[in-house]
Amino acid sequence: MVMSREKALIEIRLAGLSQGKFEFEFTCSAADFADSALVEAGFSKEISAKATVEKLEGEMIVTLKTSAIADLTCDLCLAPVTTELNGSYRIYFGYEQPDEPDEERDEEYRLIDRNAVSLDLTEDVRETLLLSVPMKVTCTDNPDCRVFHQEELDEPDEVNLHDTDWLESLEKLKNKYR
Ligand SMILES: [Zn+2]
Repeated sequence: MVMSREKALIEIRLAGLSQGKFEFEFTCSAADFADSALVEAGFSKEISAKATVEKLEGEMIVTLKTSAIADLTCDLCLAPVTTELNGSYRIYFGYEQPDEPDEERDEEYRLIDRNAVSLDLTEDVRETLLLSVPMKVTCTDNPDCRVFHQEELDEPDEVNLHDTDWLESLEKLKNKYR
């Protein structure tokens, strides 16, 4: 008996796919990835992923879209912020080495065996999820948050500038007397 290989969490079966456009939908739990980076990023619930595969003559284009609820923290007041994050990522798979690599392509270009039976997208979905986390997170409906107080000030930028200047001066002073 042939030992069955464990199936990847997010895998597309390529065998039997003719040329054309195909959609695959996946639903799993953030815990299924067994990845601490996802947990730290705030993902703990259900993850939805959609992969659109365009199989062409000489290449295959895979467009990933992810959607998941994440538990984040406001950068300013540290209040919990729960929000839906949407990510997308596109990968070009070539069957042969391209003659001239296109340097201007934003998306990723990889090589794949023309006869590959399946395509494991687990790692790509994981990365798309991590990329969907915003750099800055602030409250949207918390009147106690500093964002709302700043809006009431006439020149909030100037206030911040003074704070920074003051900190810099303090830092210089500390270095001077070291
Ligand atoms: Zn806040």
